[in-house]
Amino acid sequence: MRKYTSRVQRRVLRLPLLVVSHYANVRPTPQSWRKDVLGPFRRLILGDAPIPDDLPVFGMRSFEQLEQTLAEFREVLDRWSKLKPSHGARDLTELISKRSGLRLKRYVIDRRTRRLVPQWDTETQSFSEMLYSYFVLAFSQVPVQRLRRCVACECFFFATSPQKPKYCTGRCQIRTAMKIYRLRHRRTMPDGPSTSKTTDG
Ligand SMILES: [Zn+2]
Repeated sequence: MRKYTSRVQRRVLRLPLLVVSHYANVRPTPQSWRKDVLGPFRRLILGDAPIPDDLPVFGMRSFEQLEQTLAEFREVLDRWSKLKPSHGARDLTELISKRSGLRLKRYVIDRRTRRLVPQWDTETQSFSEMLYSYFVLAFSQVPVQRLRRCVACECFFFATSPQKPKYCTGRCQIRTAMKIYRLRHRRTMPDGPSTSKTTDG
């Protein structure tokens, strides 16, 4: 029973974090932006149907509008990932609350857990409000410091442990270590291989 509950909890946890990660890191192009807006909701909304190219997707009307919205979102995430305890937190949480436009719609009985769970709505149901709402939901489930920004590739990720990892993956860590090694190696060898091809005068 305990195992089942924790599995359910993990599943419940997953969506807001998944949503935040997707929109934090997606880099839309003029070709891909409609698909990128739908992101993790594509299957839920369209099933296997192709993405219509005449309708605004989640109210987003253009690639430029999406880029602007995501840039603002990333700026907030960046500030969040650098948040120090009791320093500037109130301004940022106020901004996020405002942008989310979250409001309680009703309570419903969860089909699996048979518990009352809140159903949320937003003021204008815009794409931007959806982003910040999932942000609020994500960080009501995990502590603030779980959001990290990789020092190598600058992507955002959720740390899986209370430690504060600097890298999103082992790959980024290894790549950085190799870069540092190469730089040091070059510095300690004044006549590196690149300068060995001298002419005989
Ligand atoms: Zn990385």
